[in-house]
Amino acid sequence: MKITVVGFWGGYPETGEATSCYLVEYKGMKVVIDLGSGAVSQLQKYSALKDIDAVVFSHYHADHVADIGVMQYSRVVDLGLGRTSDHLIMYGHQEDQKGYDSLTKEGAAEGLPYSSGQTLQLGEMTFSFAPTDHPVPCYAMRVEAAGRSFVYTADTTYLESLEDFSEGTDLLFAETSFYEGQDASKYGHMNSTEAGRLARKAAVKKLVLTHLPHFGDRDELVTEARKEYDGPVELAASGNTYEL
Ligand SMILES: [Zn+2]
Ligand SMILES: [Zn+2]
Repeated sequence: MKITVVGFWGGYPETGEATSCYLVEYKGMKVVIDLGSGAVSQLQKYSALKDIDAVVFSHYHADHVADIGVMQYSRVVDLGLGRTSDHLIMYGHQEDQKGYDSLTKEGAAEGLPYSSGQTLQLGEMTFSFAPTDHPVPCYAMRVEAAGRSFVYTADTTYLESLEDFSEGTDLLFAETSFYEGQDASKYGHMNSTEAGRLARKAAVKKLVLTHLPHFGDRDELVTEARKEYDGPVELAASGNTYEL
């Protein structure tokens, strides 16, 4: 599996970058996880839009779904010009009907549901889902292929259930919206030491801090996470790739 950080900001994108968006590829299958603000522009650095097979959404907050409409328009254009004959498949949960309905655009994109009790097979990648604790229904994702795995926490407060869900993964992308000592839970998020604790308790092999804040010295987030976790830790950055 190859994972590319397309966008890593929480809230809004800073200049020339994007909020939450990750490209996951395996054996020719290209799946995008979340499609935040600026994501469609950034994604084209790593793939033609017509080649994206599916998008999987964690939840329907703007910093994760802002580019749904323009991604659908890109498929309208690519279908119209004969660049592809494939509709775009967009997966989301059904606990927000308005959000779920936005995934479908007649003739270009088809919305399909996932749920936490079931796995989703995309090519040779297997997605599974776990509910997080956030002001709106949201799901963390685990992607497995050829015995390797990747976990994305999406947006959440610290949850013990995510320790089991992330157990032993090769790569954990943990949302880190706040610094050590700040109470992230009241906003439905985690801070740096909580991200580190999750990595330690789940015995993950590598930790990447993402969904980053627009304040403070972000390198401090890594230092703080290392107080809890002694494995490799780094900040997500646009264009960073991970081969599993
Ligand atoms: Zn978010
Ligand atoms: Zn959110």
